[in-house]
Amino acid sequence: MNIYVAEKSGFCFGVKKAIDIAKENVLEGKIFTFGPLIHNNQVIEKLKDMGIEPIDSLDKVKNGKVIIRSHGIPLSTYEEAQSFNIEIIDATCPYVRKVQKLAEKYHSEGYQIVILGDKNHPEIIGINGWCENSAIIIPNHEDLDKIRGLESLCIICQTTFSHKEYDIIVKELNLDNSLVFNTICSATSERQEACLELAKNVDIMFVIGGKHSSNTKKLYSICLEECPCTYHIETKEDLYKIDFKNCSNSEKIGVTAGASTPDWIIYEVIDKLENEGEVIINGKL
Ligand code: SF4
Repeated sequence: MNIYVAEKSGFCFGVKKAIDIAKENVLEGKIFTFGPLIHNNQVIEKLKDMGIEPIDSLDKVKNGKVIIRSHGIPLSTYEEAQSFNIEIIDATCPYVRKVQKLAEKYHSEGYQIVILGDKNHPEIIGINGWCENSAIIIPNHEDLDKIRGLESLCIICQTTFSHKEYDIIVKELNLDNSLVFNTICSATSERQEACLELAKNVDIMFVIGGKHSSNTKKLYSICLEECPCTYHIETKEDLYKIDFKNCSNSEKIGVTAGASTPDWIIYEVIDKLENEGEVIINGKL
């Protein structure tokens, strides 16, 4: 059994920066994060042990600073924090900030903002809050009827949006008098491209990351198209829960991880596969 790890995988620049900021600031006192700092339960538990506590409402903050996570927040939440006299430490990823600025600028110039992404994701809720919550949100090309025929659109995307979906959508629309910004971040593109290449060439593919992590779910669906034996796992323990009987081969094993998966979780999975992979997988084939 040979194990191959995608060239680009795991923590991205924006997530790493947010965690570093939280760790630096907790040395000076209690720290809150507005929502979980990243979509990874194992990391959140470790941060809680250090005194970094997620909250879902600013009125719960007493004597502490609040970190804005890499997903960013709506403009109104900054204003709310100011009205409560709460000290904000802003760890919004610069790539997300750029999308917020586009939404703000072109909304003020009269364009109809269209966001390609998941309407329930905090990043999208945040971006929409920079254009007075007026954006039309499109999860995929099957929903394009919502904007067909409209003019003066400004199309932007969730930073973790699928490249493939983006290309389909841009091809399908008549974009005269409209603006289109591909705001998929480079960390996302690199991870999607690297996992696609790897998934084409392995027998079994593991995608490691939080079950709620949007970018991990995208990596999973990309890999699944190329490799039917693709599994989304959170930790090494999940390896035992998989039924591998539909996988005819287990010679080449691929591993990738979402942008909110820390190295230690990836190493634990690789270590487990190296030492017990034959037994775990072949025992169920
Ligand atoms: S996935 Fe991209 S946009 Fe999101 S935090 Fe990471 S670097 Fe920033």
